[in-house]
Order: sequence, then structure tokens, then C-alpha cells
Amino acid sequence: MKLDWNEIDTVLLDMDGTLLDRHFDDHFWLEHVPKTFAGKHGITLAEAKERLYRLFKSQENTLNWTDLDYWSAHLGLDIPLLKREVDHLIAVHPFVVEFLLFLRHHGKDVHLVTNAHGKTLKLKMRSTRLGSYFNEIISAHDLGLPKEDPAFWGRLQEKIPFAPDRTLLGEDSETNLSTAALFGIRHLIHVSRSSSKEPEIDSPRFFSIDFFSRLIPPAGTMKLEIPCRSVPSRRNS
Ligand SMILES: [Mg+2]
Repeated sequence: MKLDWNEIDTVLLDMDGTLLDRHFDDHFWLEHVPKTFAGKHGITLAEAKERLYRLFKSQENTLNWTDLDYWSAHLGLDIPLLKREVDHLIAVHPFVVEFLLFLRHHGKDVHLVTNAHGKTLKLKMRSTRLGSYFNEIISAHDLGLPKEDPAFWGRLQEKIPFAPDRTLLGEDSETNLSTAALFGIRHLIHVSRSSSKEPEIDSPRFFSIDFFSRLIPPAGTMKLEIPCRSVPSRRNS
């Protein structure tokens, strides 16, 4: 894939799994919450997981999925407090800071665009100190739609004007890349290594990278050609 940074003004970046290690979120929802829930109700961990995973699944692709207040009320647990108990697991992926510095150095508009709830955002920005690298930090909860909804990107454009054909989006969700593609966002990059504890999964449709260092051109140029890592036919541009 060829990338010419002269053709890009705006960079939209997802948070969980893209800039930050998804291991924190996986561990939190799939282990820490069930363990606490099991203790509270005197049931086994396996029973708690079965009940909770079904509940989580029922809210996939909606804003409830990431709404801490929704889950606190539904599960009878203080979800923000539980997050703080394991916040030592919040971690920035390798080469993210280098990439953000490259973008700032070249005057790109850089926005964090996430489905994460305001309380999660606050915790993660405090732990990672990434906040100052962005022009704006936008939670889908403030726009009233998740990124999985194709209407999301139009609503985002009302808040932060951007030209879709001069915009790059980095995401670990193929669903969100697909809705962005429908809206006409031109440069779509899939992050295949969303969790440090899980194997990389390349996208069959979008160009996949493991680390953002792949998008930093050699010094003195703004153009780069990124070699395809596995399946040449999967190129989308
Ligand atoms: Mg993500």
C-alpha cells in the first residue's frame, strides 16, 4: 500500500485496541467483572461468566456496550471503581507515541474518536497521558451514536469538520472501518494486533498493520510504501 502524507490533513484514531492494549478491556469485562459478580451473588465463576457474557452480547454494537452507568445499574456493581482496581493493566501499544509525535510535527489534525464512555476516557487519559497529543477527544456517547452506525461519521463531521478524501482512520474494528468506508473516508488502516495477549488477526478487507511505526515514512520524505505482510490480494487501495 502506498501512503502519501501530503494527501492527508486529518487523522482519526480509535482508542481501545488501536492506541491502547485491548488486554485491559478483555481482562476487565471477561475476568474481573465476572469474578466480582460471582463473589457478590455466591455463584461460581463459570455461572457468572455464562450469565454476564450473554448480557454483554445482547448489547453489542450499541452505546450501552461501553456505558459504565448502564452496566453499574444493570449488574449492581460500581463499574468505574472496579476499573480503577485493575488500572495498572492500561497500556499504550508500542510506537503509538512516536506516531503521534510524527503527526504533530507535521501539523496534522489528530482526533481521538472512541465509543468509550466519558468515565473510561478520563481514567485512560489520566493513566496514559496521551490526551495532549489530540486536537479533540470525542466520545461516541456525546454524539449519541456508536461508530458501528453509518450515520456516526456525518454526525462527527458536524463537530469536527474534515474532508473524507483527505482523512486517515486507524481502527481495530472492521465494522467501524466499514461504516467509515461507506461515508467515504479514504485512508482506512486496520490494526491487527489489538491485544498483546492475543494473536494478530489481519483483516481480509482493509490494509492491516501490527504497529503504527509502519505508517511513519523515512526521514526526509512524506511518502512510503508499506509492503503487504501476508495475503497480497487483501489490499484495498
Ligand atoms: Mg477499538
